Amino acid sequence: MDLAVVGAGTMGAGIVQVALARGLAVTLYDAFPRAAEGGAGRVRAGLDRSVERGRLTAEQKEAALARLATTTSLDDLAPAPFVIEAAPEDLALKRALFEALARVCAPDAVLTTNTSSLSVTKVAAAATRPERVAGMHFFNPVPALALVEVVAGHRTSEETLGRVMALAERLGKRPVRAKDTPGFIVNRVARPFYGEPLRILAEGTDVATVDRIMRAGGNFKIGPFELMDLIGIDVNFAVTKSVYEAFFGEPRYRPHPIQERMVEAGTLGRKTGQGFYTYGDRNGTAGSRGDALAGVGTDEPRRERPALPGPAHDTGGGDAGR
Ligand code: NAD
Repeated sequence: MDLAVVGAGTMGAGIVQVALARGLAVTLYDAFPRAAEGGAGRVRAGLDRSVERGRLTAEQKEAALARLATTTSLDDLAPAPFVIEAAPEDLALKRALFEALARVCAPDAVLTTNTSSLSVTKVAAAATRPERVAGMHFFNPVPALALVEVVAGHRTSEETLGRVMALAERLGKRPVRAKDTPGFIVNRVARPFYGEPLRILAEGTDVATVDRIMRAGGNFKIGPFELMDLIGIDVNFAVTKSVYEAFFGEPRYRPHPIQERMVEAGTLGRKTGQGFYTYGDRNGTAGSRGDALAGVGTDEPRRERPALPGPAHDTGGGDAGR
């Protein structure tokens, strides 16, 4: 095994897909059997798309899949020299995982977290030898976006950072060093891209109008509501809360009740088939159609919207496998 990935959701599956395509042997762990199976299914579907697009041959795809193992037992990660954790954005959960991973894995294994916003220092402090823990923040969709923020916690060693940078490059990514500040760079700068559109929605403008204007007039490749659906409403809400709390309730970063209501309703975006838009295909394949859920927060009727555009910042890393 070259790599273990913890959490078989949106990000875990994307990371596994890229690692397999790059020749690594990967074990995918999830706490829930159905989630592990679902993640493996999305990896397979992503590799199928790579074949359709001529980026992999059918033989390469089969060889890649033969290098994938899935498990629901953390003990199976013992031989992993490198772990990327992509479990939910919850500090207590991640700390419990790192405490366990540090016990299970070899003392020189590198343990990384794909957290979007939590303190890498706080996550690392739960592990024995926190010097081998770092942040490795990928972007969604992982196969399409090249940027990886590499984050040093307070005690992360230079040797660990070197190994993280090297793995990112082996995965065909462009790693950049970022400070261990809430939201790092991208998610900090992006806060108003979610917060203001949610306020505009609550004031009565529908989601499709905001998205259309941001794409056409703002020259963004994807509108804010489309992006929140892609990220996952629960993930985006957790990240918003985390940044807000990290800045001791700074009003600029305050989460919006619309996010909380959608999480409570289970309308989490593409991954559940419904968020601000509805999706015919639960996996939300590129170009899938959705109907604007214009009623969210506005009491407006649902209306048709055009096919979704490509990924937010396609830096040419590969497939837009969602
Ligand atoms: P997700 O909800 O799609 O997947 C989370 C997975 O973790 C699920 O499969 C779930 O079953 C599993 N899980 C739950 N408890 C677990 C446990 N104790 N041990 C192992 N697995 C467990 O979430 P996601 O969008 O893939 O996000 C994962 C992480 O990546 C979060 O920290 C998030 O902030 C970060 N991230 C997300 C995005 C994004 O756009 N979605 C982008 C960059 C980083």
